[in-house]
Amino acid sequence: MKRIRIAVDMDEVMADYSGACLRALNAHYGTTYTKEQLKGMTLLERFQTYDDAPRTLHAILHDPHFYRTFDVIEGSVETLRTLSETYDIVIATAAMDVPPCFAAKYDWLEEHVPFIDPQSFIFCGNKNVVRAHYLIDDNATQLRRFEGTPLLFTAPHNETDDLPFTRLNDWNDVRSYFETKRKTR
Ligand SMILES: [Mg+2]
Repeated sequence: MKRIRIAVDMDEVMADYSGACLRALNAHYGTTYTKEQLKGMTLLERFQTYDDAPRTLHAILHDPHFYRTFDVIEGSVETLRTLSETYDIVIATAAMDVPPCFAAKYDWLEEHVPFIDPQSFIFCGNKNVVRAHYLIDDNATQLRRFEGTPLLFTAPHNETDDLPFTRLNDWNDVRSYFETKRKTR
């Protein structure tokens, strides 16, 4: 590998997965939970008083258009555009759990990060197959499997976890992390 390669997760890192799910679940149950109220818990823990919440969430996620509705996480597009001038950026998304989302995820990426070649989109399951120097991800299990340097991106569900990874709270942190790396190389 000539250039340093950074693999970037999609849901909760570039695309606001929990925000979109919360919107859909709130609409379904007539609730008004905010992302602030998701801190330290999963969506299903938040909706645990509803017995059918797992089934409802499953149906939401399997709507093939749902992934197109995700908002962009603040700063992600701008920072990725800057980083792509210096680094190889690949998008590594664990899409195998929800195959109906493939097309919507692809369309979302084409719309929001058109400067990244679709040949660099990796739709995978286990991210130990991703060959890169860094992985930016909110999922501790994926970070543990990854063979390069794991970077934990803060999301509501991991915000209160004490995890053995460098934590990046937002895209300003991502930018600073790689600026510092560049200067010290
Ligand atoms: Mg994720």
